[in-house]
Amino acid sequence: TIGMLALDASGNLSGACTTSGMAYKLHGRIGDSPIIGAGLYIDNEIGGATSTGVGEEVIRNVGSFLVVELMRQGLSPEDACKEAVMRIIRKKPNIAKNIQVGFLALDKNGNYGAYAIQQGFTFAVCNQQKNDLTIKGKSYY
Ligand code: ASP
Repeated sequence: TIGMLALDASGNLSGACTTSGMAYKLHGRIGDSPIIGAGLYIDNEIGGATSTGVGEEVIRNVGSFLVVELMRQGLSPEDACKEAVMRIIRKKPNIAKNIQVGFLALDKNGNYGAYAIQQGFTFAVCNQQKNDLTIKGKSYY
């Protein structure tokens, strides 16, 4: 999945995501990406979030909506992503060790952060200070 979050010069947030789904998926499977609140969620008052990885676990936790709601409660984008990841790990520790789920978030002030279950989740930032800087997201494992 490729997820994108943007904050324009007027302070408006937007986002998009695109995916090829999971390898060997069942015919007709719907992942998290096309489901608003799961693979993508934007609230122009607060921030936006998007996810990658095993969509079933993201859908079960309404992951991107959860990240935005946690930012509404005052968590930083990275801490909100981390808490959404921790919910998946706490509910299914044995499954979580072998899967990837990562979240990326951007708030209304341009702060961003990410967190994933497994290492290797990177994201790129482009703003007035940074042009296409690739950042290694933090992870649980
Ligand atoms: N999230 C996608 C899905 O479950 C897969 C991916 O991230 O590549 O369909």
